[in-house]
Amino acid sequence: MISGLWDSLLDLLFPPLPECPFCGAHGSGVEVCRACHAVVDGYRLEAHCRICGRLPEKAVPVTSGGFYLCGECQRHGWPFVAARAPGPYEGVLKKAIHRFKYGGSRRLAAPLASLMAELLLSDALYADIDLVVPVPLSGNKLRQRGFNQAALLAKEIGVRLKIPVNGRALAKIMDTPSQTGLSRAAREINLINAFHVTDARYLQGKNILIVDDVFTTGSTMSSAAAAVKQAGAGQVFVITAATGRYS
Ligand SMILES: [Zn+2]
Ligand SMILES: [Zn+2]
Repeated sequence: MISGLWDSLLDLLFPPLPECPFCGAHGSGVEVCRACHAVVDGYRLEAHCRICGRLPEKAVPVTSGGFYLCGECQRHGWPFVAARAPGPYEGVLKKAIHRFKYGGSRRLAAPLASLMAELLLSDALYADIDLVVPVPLSGNKLRQRGFNQAALLAKEIGVRLKIPVNGRALAKIMDTPSQTGLSRAAREINLINAFHVTDARYLQGKNILIVDDVFTTGSTMSSAAAAVKQAGAGQVFVITAATGRYS
């Protein structure tokens, strides 16, 4: 009892520093602790695909620009100029995104968006964006989860980049059947008309940044970007909190 009171008094006099939102380490005093930030910084040193932003499965020697084109980007085009992510969907990023998306930890939107915004601000390719648009959820999914994780990330990125966000320009029309195990062509057929632009005036002539949590096969992003372009948008760019690896 006495020691409990003493601890409360100490907490009052010397408030504990905020915990790292990713690993829970004490005393970082910043959004993400140094150790977690170092892990993410390490990913930046790895080579990534110049277009889709995915990282190679196995380490490849880094050339002067550190850029590669993955096999898929050599074979096909995308309706977006480029996609980027602070790192692969593994380790600290995977844990944080999992807690954010499925554990309901909405407060993780801020530190994840900070890492995404840092990346956007450091890449000249992303210097000319007019509007931030999250990948929407279908009405069913939104009711199940209670929030759209992409919309929370988009809002935080908009604040950091000082760019307007429009969470209503793009809508998800239907629940998409599972994409697992399908070829790229089959996934694209699956996703045709999955997205619908509510009012093309929001998008016309603007360079759009589409935001989502994870870039895996790229089919969702491809479909969302195609809908936005069809509505008359200028260039489309993509940012996600994490991305896949290509083999
Ligand atoms: Zn940490
Ligand atoms: Zn690629």
